[in-house]
Amino acid sequence: MMRTALFPGSFDPFTMGHMDILRSALKMFDKVIVAVGYNSTKSGFFHPALRVEIIKDATSGLENVEVCSYRGLTVDFCKKMGASCIIRGLRTTTDFEMESVIAQANRKMAPDILSIFIPAGHEYSFISSTVVRDVLVNGGSARCFLPKNVDIDKYLKLREG
Ligand code: ADP
Repeated sequence: MMRTALFPGSFDPFTMGHMDILRSALKMFDKVIVAVGYNSTKSGFFHPALRVEIIKDATSGLENVEVCSYRGLTVDFCKKMGASCIIRGLRTTTDFEMESVIAQANRKMAPDILSIFIPAGHEYSFISSTVVRDVLVNGGSARCFLPKNVDIDKYLKLREG
């Protein structure tokens, strides 16, 4: 049986920390779907369509990865995509507390879908999309936080239209 996992998130933008979690997930699953959660009340820094393009660039050298965006409940999207597990990364105890509440709610709604937490690699555990956005809005170079295939300047220009 083909084992598919969903790795959902805001990914605004996708960082080396996310990439590390994705690589770990690929060791456990035949396919991992990286899914940008679409929140209609929160526009974010990069438009979700650009976030998807950034992730496609970041993962262009990897097999068995699909990238898309979704609206609505993560568990519903898992069912639609045939994913049996939800992957989330943990950096801190704060992440754990938040993630365990979400995982329990998801389990209540969809008992067959398992949440799997993967600890952040120590070299990436300080990286967050928030830090990357702060660096970018202040004109700094965020390259050291981003996967190497991502030309972030291109996306900054597209963002500004
Ligand atoms: P969300 O808004 O859904 O939390 P994020 O894009 O911030 O979306 O994060 C998606 C997932 O990746 C979350 O499980 C988060 O804890 C995890 N994550 C974020 N940054 C890192 C990192 N540097 N190392 C490991 N996991 C991370």
